Amino acid sequence: MIRPGEASRFLSEFIKLNTTNPPGNEEVAAHYLEALLDKEGIKTDIYAPAPKRANILAKIKGKKRGKPIILLGHVDVVPADAEGWAEDPFSGAIREGYLYGRGAIDMKSQVICLLMAFIELKRQGITPERDMIFLATADEETGGELGVEYMVKKLPWLRGASFVLSEGGCIVEEDGFQHAQVSVAEKKIAQFMIRAHGSGGHASMPHSNNANDKVVRAAHRLIDFRMPFRPTPVVTRYLTALLKGNMIKGHAFSTLKEALRNERFRTFVENHPVYNAILRNTIALTILKAGEKVNVIPTESTAQFDARILPEENAERFLKAVAKVAGKDVEVVSSGPYDSIPSSYRTDYFRMISQAVRKVKGNAFPVLPFLTTGATDLRFFRRFGIAAYGFFPITLSKEELFRMHGLNERISLQNLEEGLYATQRLVELLASYPGA
Ligand SMILES: [Zn+2]
Repeated sequence: MIRPGEASRFLSEFIKLNTTNPPGNEEVAAHYLEALLDKEGIKTDIYAPAPKRANILAKIKGKKRGKPIILLGHVDVVPADAEGWAEDPFSGAIREGYLYGRGAIDMKSQVICLLMAFIELKRQGITPERDMIFLATADEETGGELGVEYMVKKLPWLRGASFVLSEGGCIVEEDGFQHAQVSVAEKKIAQFMIRAHGSGGHASMPHSNNANDKVVRAAHRLIDFRMPFRPTPVVTRYLTALLKGNMIKGHAFSTLKEALRNERFRTFVENHPVYNAILRNTIALTILKAGEKVNVIPTESTAQFDARILPEENAERFLKAVAKVAGKDVEVVSSGPYDSIPSSYRTDYFRMISQAVRKVKGNAFPVLPFLTTGATDLRFFRRFGIAAYGFFPITLSKEELFRMHGLNERISLQNLEEGLYATQRLVELLASYPGA
């Protein structure tokens, strides 16, 4: 049995271990988890891809040799500057029912809940049908090269997993309405730069071969370009479940396809950052670099864009379209996009998640597949055709969600308790599942 207060104590101790990435320093976190597993008599292996960096793997052997199930979490966090925080971001302080700290949501809380649900199998003497793997990794926040990417190279058998559970979705509360977002896909990163060269010279004698002018004009064309809406199956399922029957800006929503033909609905979508991002490729101008002296025309100018494209989109085709819109005066340089393919949501695993959520939230609670706009480590598993879902059953308002990677990241103790309870139910279901 999980003892009262165990989860909050572990999480508080875990947050105190500063695993800000860069530099990462995940070794301390791996050793902490190792000690907890060791106490329960569960053997662990630590994989260190570089000094002070570490991944940890533990296994509970199943009854038969089937494809394993992986409970996955990253232990690194994004930087946090104590200024502006109500509590020190690495104190793990508990105040008025909230546990504060970097990683309280993303994702040390989930790592602790997955770990405890895993440990609980051992404590209860449950032998899972198939091998259950607990895998806590480094380096997610800067691309995963030393974390999951390293691990699937080091241990190729991980590529044969049947299911991976990690971060990316939760229960969202919006306008008093709650629903569960289970991330089954994520957008692909396709960052690019536009670059122009020109002849430079003294700014007192302007000419038409100015690198900055070329980049600014091309950037303008890209910003003004309206990417077409492309409702993918996951997003169609998601938005239809949320919006069907609602009046939106005077439009009665029946199907997404029809709604997208309505101009007022399209404007509504364009002003909703999440709906907009899940329905189309997006670009955001993030870095402008050129010129050093106000009286000198630079010879080179660049603008960098963060682009996130739909999982079904072909990256080369997208970049070709970008180059066409940007025009002949600039070149488009891309650092190579990450591949990412969606997982199907018509699986027993999705049904098990629904079942676990409904144990907490009631039988009619909407549990919907979702497309994450950011990138997670799950992409390294989805590329092998594995059902890989991002979901942690805690309930967050928009305001609480924005604290992730921001100021005063925190989790309520009640949320942590519910998250742990539903995670445990889910892990039990997974353990008793003979398998696909
Ligand atoms: Zn994360």
